[in-house]
Amino acid sequence: MEQKQTINFGAGPAKLPQSVLLQAQKELLNYSGLGISVLEMSHRSADFNKIINKSESLLRELLDIPDNYKVLFLQGGGSGQFSAVPLNLIGLKEDRCADYLVTGTWSAKAAKEAEKYGKVNIVHPKLESYTKIPDPSSWTLNPSASYVYYCCNETVNGVEYNFTPETNGVVLISDMSSNFLSRPIDVSKFGLIFAGAQKNIGSAGVTVVIVREDLLGHALKECPIVLDYKVQAEMNSLYNTPPCFSVYIMGLVLEWIKNNGGSAAMETLNKQKSSMIYEIIDSSKGFYVCPVDPSCRSRMNVPFHVGKKEGDDALEKKFLEGASKRGMISLKGHRSVGGLRASLYNAVTLEDTAALADYMKVFLKEHQF
Ligand code: PLP
Repeated sequence: MEQKQTINFGAGPAKLPQSVLLQAQKELLNYSGLGISVLEMSHRSADFNKIINKSESLLRELLDIPDNYKVLFLQGGGSGQFSAVPLNLIGLKEDRCADYLVTGTWSAKAAKEAEKYGKVNIVHPKLESYTKIPDPSSWTLNPSASYVYYCCNETVNGVEYNFTPETNGVVLISDMSSNFLSRPIDVSKFGLIFAGAQKNIGSAGVTVVIVREDLLGHALKECPIVLDYKVQAEMNSLYNTPPCFSVYIMGLVLEWIKNNGGSAAMETLNKQKSSMIYEIIDSSKGFYVCPVDPSCRSRMNVPFHVGKKEGDDALEKKFLEGASKRGMISLKGHRSVGGLRASLYNAVTLEDTAALADYMKVFLKEHQF
């Protein structure tokens, strides 16, 4: 059956809720009766102030962020934070060292960047492939580390933590770019959380940083001023021109999350959606293969191969062509790992996921060995 609507399973920038796009469209030329677009609005105006404050208060409400945390809206993406985190925090303790958990492409990049600014200790034996999270009993954490860093959901590899690492009092930092607001979290367990908006909460350009107040003011002297958390916190993220439109879109998405039951409701849906796909993979008798250990399979990004463990190129190409005919796009795996990947962020609906599941079943029937 041909599907008319395009279903976007992209890993990011990713699908946005239809109602958010419609509202942005409606307000594009004349925001709130002001006769100008948010795209044209001064970031120093009272009207923009309302927009940025609304995004912040929605975030605080949705995540129940304690009062002793600052919320920043920065530029530079998740990659900018790979630098900002050590620039601001590796000097927290004299030794200038940090513990990193490297469970996928993005935490590997973050660890490499941090090496420029201090000593980096990878707390577990190097993984041969990014398909599991080493058991915490095998980690060697350094009590003198300035912080412990991990990536909560590895977007490329489809590896997600379903627990919060225990650090014996050392500041915990998490990159939640690709599972932010996909489930409830206890912010008070973290020193800092960051997330690029372009997967679960908006459009590219803005990165959310939630940071505990006592961690401000420890930046290395080399830290660029726009990345200095203390400066940005004191200026309400307006030290320089922020990504105004992305902050506005994020506010619309956060409102949509709130109106749809918040992070707990997102979690319920995300569990349902991802189970739908994993169940087909697991019952396909090896026709579909997900390389990730079942204990840490991501609810957001489902990587899989078709035909055999390492993937049958011809079958995978055919799968993508058939998907495209049904309106399903961006199912190709990341170039570094190949295969296929279905990203099931908050805005991807149960119906979207069911359409993929149906297609996977049909494709299996037609091509089963
Ligand atoms: N961290 C994670 C988990 C990501 O998925 C990405 C990008 O996809 C990044 C960091 C880097 O983000 P950016 O491209 O915004 O720098």
